[in-house]
Amino acid sequence: MKKPIYLDYNATTPIDPEVATEMIPYIESFYGNPSSSYSVGRSNKEAIEKARAQVAGLINCQPEEIYFTSCATESNNLAIKGIAWANSKKERHIITSEIEHPAVTEVCKYLSSHGFEITYIPVDEYGRVDPKDVENAIRPDTILITIMHANNEVGTIQPIQEIGAIARQNNIVFHTDASQSVGKIETDVDKMGVDLLTIAGHKLYAPKGIGALYIRNGTRVENLMHGGGQEKGKRPGTENVIHTVGLGKACEVAMRDFKENQQNMKASRDRLLNGLVSQLGNQVHVNVNLENCLPNTLSVAFEKVSAHSLASFISGEVLISTGSACHSGETTISSVLQAMNIDFRTAAATVRISTGKHTIKEEIDFAVEVLVNAVKKLSI
Ligand code: PLP
Repeated sequence: MKKPIYLDYNATTPIDPEVATEMIPYIESFYGNPSSSYSVGRSNKEAIEKARAQVAGLINCQPEEIYFTSCATESNNLAIKGIAWANSKKERHIITSEIEHPAVTEVCKYLSSHGFEITYIPVDEYGRVDPKDVENAIRPDTILITIMHANNEVGTIQPIQEIGAIARQNNIVFHTDASQSVGKIETDVDKMGVDLLTIAGHKLYAPKGIGALYIRNGTRVENLMHGGGQEKGKRPGTENVIHTVGLGKACEVAMRDFKENQQNMKASRDRLLNGLVSQLGNQVHVNVNLENCLPNTLSVAFEKVSAHSLASFISGEVLISTGSACHSGETTISSVLQAMNIDFRTAAATVRISTGKHTIKEEIDFAVEVLVNAVKKLSI
């Protein structure tokens, strides 16, 4: 049976073959504990330090500013709670946005149940935060601004550089969840003006189960876990050498092939949209401003078609995701689409299609054909 065409790269990516090749010796042979002083341990320590430098290269920081974690969720927890607990005696106000991933919003909710005050900045119709709103929300007791770089559902890119400048002027620590942007658009921590930045391995062709947090030198982050002191105490526990090596290689490859990958993802996304519009006309509604969007992401509603019916109808041939959840016949609209003030019917008709660096024209043309036929069949 032919495998369905995968167009859900924002959910996760496959492991790049070059990444897999790099990991194999660490699966098959190099089992030493990186903390051991003999050679099989030392060589694994060196492999971790090489990976640290590779990750640092992609985001333009010092290797010692990279801390390996298990995933983006852990990185966000360490960043946000770590800053909160490091400042909790004096100041307790945090600024975030209404369109963050649960790996940020749930952390903020947890902190609000522990006496922190959270301000949620709204977004415009395309899902963009206005930096002026961030500036106006700053209080004398604000300790952290955490606003994502690019949204996972709709792809909208936030004005991080402008928010970074505001954070700096006001001497406030600035974290960004860059899980979706690393490898797709430029993520230079100095240009962005961020103090902490979250990386998710499995969104950039490394395995699942590895992430990283950039912490600018001099930023005070309380440790959340306590143990053997690995990762300078920020992430104690024997290191996941295999996956760390994978993340390092994935970052090296992402940096080397950046322009080519970006162009390919965008060309695929644009070809898909053009194909859909040319056959379905104004039944196609794009939810975002594509000028300010991840190059691989298309958040699109097909008028009069339920997104759930569409995604499940085509799932044998093309894999995409929806902007709503359907439980026991009831449709719940995602908080991101709600924050963008998208009306219920459009939101319930919204799907997310995300292309990958190796997506080819033939896959896109097939996906267009499948989508167009399904939309025509399912239109009510
Ligand atoms: N942040 C963003 C923006 C994401 O898109 C995701 C995953 O979809 C996460 C955080 C959480 O990633 P993980 O489940 O790998 O921890």
